[in-house]
Amino acid sequence: MTYNSMELTAFRNVWVFCEQRQGKIMPTTFELVSEGRKLADELGSELCGLLLGDDVEGLASELGGYGADRVYVCSSPLLKDYTTDGYTKVVVEAVQALKPEILLFGASHFGRDLAPRCAARLHTGLCADCTHLDVDMNGYVEFLRTASSLDVENTSFESKLFDAKANLKMTRPAFGGHLMATIVCPRFRPAMATVRPGVMKRRAYDPAGAAKVTVEKLAVTLSASDIGCEVLETVKAARKLVDLIGAEVIVSVGRGISSDVEKGIALAQELADELGGVLGSSRAVVDAGWLSADHQVGQTGKTVHPKVYIALGISGAIQHKAGMQESECIIAVNKNETAPIFEVADYGIVGDLFKVVPELIAAVKDEKAGK
Ligand code: FAD
Repeated sequence: MTYNSMELTAFRNVWVFCEQRQGKIMPTTFELVSEGRKLADELGSELCGLLLGDDVEGLASELGGYGADRVYVCSSPLLKDYTTDGYTKVVVEAVQALKPEILLFGASHFGRDLAPRCAARLHTGLCADCTHLDVDMNGYVEFLRTASSLDVENTSFESKLFDAKANLKMTRPAFGGHLMATIVCPRFRPAMATVRPGVMKRRAYDPAGAAKVTVEKLAVTLSASDIGCEVLETVKAARKLVDLIGAEVIVSVGRGISSDVEKGIALAQELADELGGVLGSSRAVVDAGWLSADHQVGQTGKTVHPKVYIALGISGAIQHKAGMQESECIIAVNKNETAPIFEVADYGIVGDLFKVVPELIAAVKDEKAGK
């Protein structure tokens, strides 16, 4: 079989690596399938899921519900648990056989391990931790117009080196989050990207899509000797991690609680509980050891888009905003009226959080009591 990653015209369709654990598809996969649908429509091509595991065929229809036209299933007892060697071999062989133009992975622990190894074997480029993806040039320019300070009208997007219109434009934070960079992979295929959990929006589930998805089994040529390690046991973290990604309401605290950390966290938690939400934080709070890392929102934490995001004593550094500015409604409490968080806030309260939050809690309680 000849495989040449520079033979661009041989590559077609958008693929999403569909991560499952213990027979359950990971939520990031649904976000990527939703985004993949957009890219496939822009290219006029098929959206295909690549699903690896043992006896996982039954999961394929769910992927159709989020927009997949076709799901390739690679089934083997040797794929029951994730191993770098086993999964790399199977993904690489599938790509070499069927030649997708674009291949997306979630930037989960597995995706971050698997995607670069596959990219190296396939001799192509990988853009890690993307926050925005476009093929369509108009969509990309519109994205720049709304999300950047670039003078879009007076910028040329033509390049002598490659056709900008034909390539996947992969945008990600660069230089510590101070810049957004758009990267293309013009000479090799597939164009590969990882996307962090929570970044892309999940489409509404469509049962009609689930009913008509095509499921195709791919032959797996994997033997135990291909895998250099053995998974003896999977142990889940004993600590209950906060589910920021799935939360509809997030109440986040920043360094503004420093004069009484315990009280600040207790007040934020009480407000979150009253609103049926969860507790988040800025990185300053995590770095200070006041809350664990799973609470952190932002560029190096979680990207969230809840219905309501309440920022208490958070200045609104670019790295924090990168993780929360897509929230539907942002409420900020800060005693400094020039704090950048107010630039993205729908409602801003200038004041001391230790005075404002008890009033908010009381107001929510009154509202719930019908007062
Ligand atoms: P500060 O910037 O110190 O702001 C505290 C705010 O609280 C101030 O605005 C102050 O006016 C207000 N305040 C003080 N007292 C009160 C009070 N009593 N009532 C009301 N308001 C009060 N940060 C993140 O959050 N997430 C990330 O993922 C992240 N990733 C990063 C990645 C890189 C590569 C780098 C370089 C930085 C990153 N940061 C991240 C750090 C970021 O730059 C900021 O340092 C951090 O967000 C600041 O946190 P803060 O807003 O809580 O603290």
